[in-house]
Amino acid sequence: MDNKYRKWFGEQRGRRAAEAFQQKGWQSYYVETLGEAKKLLFDTCLPKGVSVGLGGSETLSAMDVLPILRNGEYKLYDRYNCADHFEVCRDSLMADYFLSGANALTMAGEMVNMDCSGSRVAAMAYGPRHVIVAAGVNKITDTLEEAIARAKSIAPMNCKRNGHKTPCAETGVCTDCNIPDRMCNQLLITFNAQKFAGKYTLILINEDMGF
Ligand code: SF4
Repeated sequence: MDNKYRKWFGEQRGRRAAEAFQQKGWQSYYVETLGEAKKLLFDTCLPKGVSVGLGGSETLSAMDVLPILRNGEYKLYDRYNCADHFEVCRDSLMADYFLSGANALTMAGEMVNMDCSGSRVAAMAYGPRHVIVAAGVNKITDTLEEAIARAKSIAPMNCKRNGHKTPCAETGVCTDCNIPDRMCNQLLITFNAQKFAGKYTLILINEDMGF
């Protein structure tokens, strides 16, 4: 995000959104760069020695977290290098920490995620003792309705990225498909995080991350 006005706008929205998430029981951080986000994640948010599950995320991918998570200091449930993806995702439900991106975040402190299998939203809702979300300010919407629409609208790109054989992965247009590869099956709205103090952490980055 090079344009200084976009950067300024991102900071205003990012700081206000981070405050809204804090009010809803999240531990929230606002940072300017991907590098700062990575440092914050590994220096402050994620203790050494814990078990870690992962949700598929372009943002985590851009942060290049895998080499560190694989260096032996963590017990990683590695969904990207495993014999049985289904079992790794099941194990991840009991990880100490679950790391993920988000499909959308609202200015009022709500999070929206859409899944195919539900493995990511299941872990975000319950199971792991801690959930850490890293996301760019481009994920912030003004309303919950816009957040849900955003989660739906990016599904074609997620299908393309994950090799799902859906109509939208060919044309970019949703046909409300009815096939096994359908991406849009599970929708999670995280309204509030006061239930388990300290469970949810948000790292909001003033960059365009993922889609
Ligand atoms: S419902 Fe099917 S066609 Fe529509 S966006 Fe989701 S996966 Fe693509």
